[in-house]
Order: sequence, then C-alpha cells, then structure tokens
Amino acid sequence: MPWTQILERAVALSASCRHEGEVADYIPALADVAPDQFGIAVATLDGSIHSAQDSQTRFSIQSISKVFLLTLAYHAYGESLWTRVGQSPSTNPFNSLIELELERGIPRNPFLNPGALAVTDALLSRHTHLESAMVAVMRELAGNPDINYDSDVFDSELRCASRHHATAHLMQSHGNFSNEVGEVVRAYCASCAIEASCVELARAGLFLANGGRDPQGGRQLLSAQQAQRVCALMLTTGTYENSGMTAFAIGLPTKSGVGGGVLAVLPGRGTICAWSPRLGASGNSVRAMKALELISNAAGLSVFA
Ligand code: GLN
Repeated sequence: MPWTQILERAVALSASCRHEGEVADYIPALADVAPDQFGIAVATLDGSIHSAQDSQTRFSIQSISKVFLLTLAYHAYGESLWTRVGQSPSTNPFNSLIELELERGIPRNPFLNPGALAVTDALLSRHTHLESAMVAVMRELAGNPDINYDSDVFDSELRCASRHHATAHLMQSHGNFSNEVGEVVRAYCASCAIEASCVELARAGLFLANGGRDPQGGRQLLSAQQAQRVCALMLTTGTYENSGMTAFAIGLPTKSGVGGGVLAVLPGRGTICAWSPRLGASGNSVRAMKALELISNAAGLSVFA
C-alpha cells in the first residue's frame, strides 16, 4: 500500500479517539494549545516526505528533546555516559523521584526526567551555551534555520520547576551532578521548549534509522552501534511506563513528549512523527499513539516483523 493511502487510513481510523485525553496543563503555557489538532509525517531515507493534516504546524517537542540531548551526550562521552545513568525501564511516571533515592542518585534511564537532567548536566560540562547548541542541532537535522525554542513555554516551565530542582539536588547529594542546578534546569527547560512540526521532527530523527548518520547533511552523529542502542532505549523506555504496551502494539522505537508529539524510528527505512495534544494518563498522546499503531500494523513495520 502506498504511504499516502496508509496515512489517510490512519487519519480516518484514529479520528474516533480525537476527543480522548487531556492537554498537559502542569506547564501552564501548554494548556493554551488547541487540543484537537492532529498531524502526521513519514520521512524515508531516500529523502521523501509523506504527510497529512497538521503536519506543518509546530508544537512543543518537550521530552522528544531527550533523544537529541542523549545523542549529543553519547557522542561526547561514549560508553562512560552510562556511569551517570542506567538503561533499564521503569514502572514509575517520568517525573518520579522514588527510584532515584532508592538507587543512590543514578536514574534508571535517560528518558525519565532524572535521567535527562543527568544527561543535560554532563553536556553542560562540555558546552557553555547548551541551549544554542541544541537549537543549532535541531535546525541542522530538521533542515530549517528558523527552528527555535518558545520563550513563553520556557518561562512557564521554569516558573514551576521545583520538582526539576529537587531531582537535580537529590542527584547532587548522591554525587551524581557537577554543574550549578539552576543552570542545568534552564538548559533542560529550553531544550524541552523547542518547537518543531511533524515534518521537521521526522527529518531530524532520520540519523537513528541510518546507522547514526544524517542522510541529508551527511554528519555522523553517533556510531551505528550507538544509534542501535538509542533505538533500544526508545523501544524499552521511550513512552515511560507504557513502553511494554507500545512495543506490543506498535513494535517500533518511539519517544513521546507532553506536547503531544511521538517520534518513531523505522530502522533502515525512515521515521514517522505523529502529533496530537491530548494525552493519556502516562503523558503520551492518545491519538498519535493510535495512529502509529494503525500504520505499523497496516504496513507490517514492527521491528519484529
Ligand atoms: N518538560 C517536561 C517535563 O520535564 C517534559 C516531560 C515530557 O514531555 N514527558 O516535565
């Protein structure tokens, strides 16, 4: 079946859940987003893009930025990064502190908030202007020089960042933190506040499907083995406590964000990015996850196929 037809079908069939879930409102600026929007884009390694609905509308990438933070840190530190953060799934929510204390300040994985803050701390030791480095890498990979972070979303998250501060201080108390907590939290919130569309994010993720090399610009961001490992973490931890269900229903490495975006990797083939702001209880977009399930099943895309 051609991509256009697969996408049209996913748009039609996922419409039944278009009013399910709630927009994230713990970051006040995200609560203002029109809740029923939906976009989807497929990018393939040969350079084609197939898209439908609001695929050009920019949204807050939120935790999808954790994939790009991890990529920069893994590139900079290699395997020694894993002394700071683990590679195991968690059954707790993305912002939980429970395991962090029990496990002596080593976060379970880089896609939980504690893990992403540890990764951001590691990166800040290498980049004085991490916010600009993150924006620059997103511009390069998405192929669009006007990508930026939204300052309202950034300010809004920073105003209610007590839990981020608590997380960072807890890691600091266990000796797993190097930089000034406030600076790390700022760089993390700025990365989460980057805005991109489904088309741009699908393009930006292509290096993960291509042995770590950006097929457009040609830059090797990760080694082939590192790219495989990032995908393994996306499959096992990318949608938090739902990751097992995601592997079962979709069968692809995916990373979600509370802006409603979900980026999925089709190893060796391309990427899919789906977006719809209404979230289920674990913070994953209800309609975007449904659309990915329909597409993966219709086209036999599971990595286990
Ligand atoms: N910036 C959000 C937070 O740290 C990202 C969470 C998410 O997208 N799951 O809470």
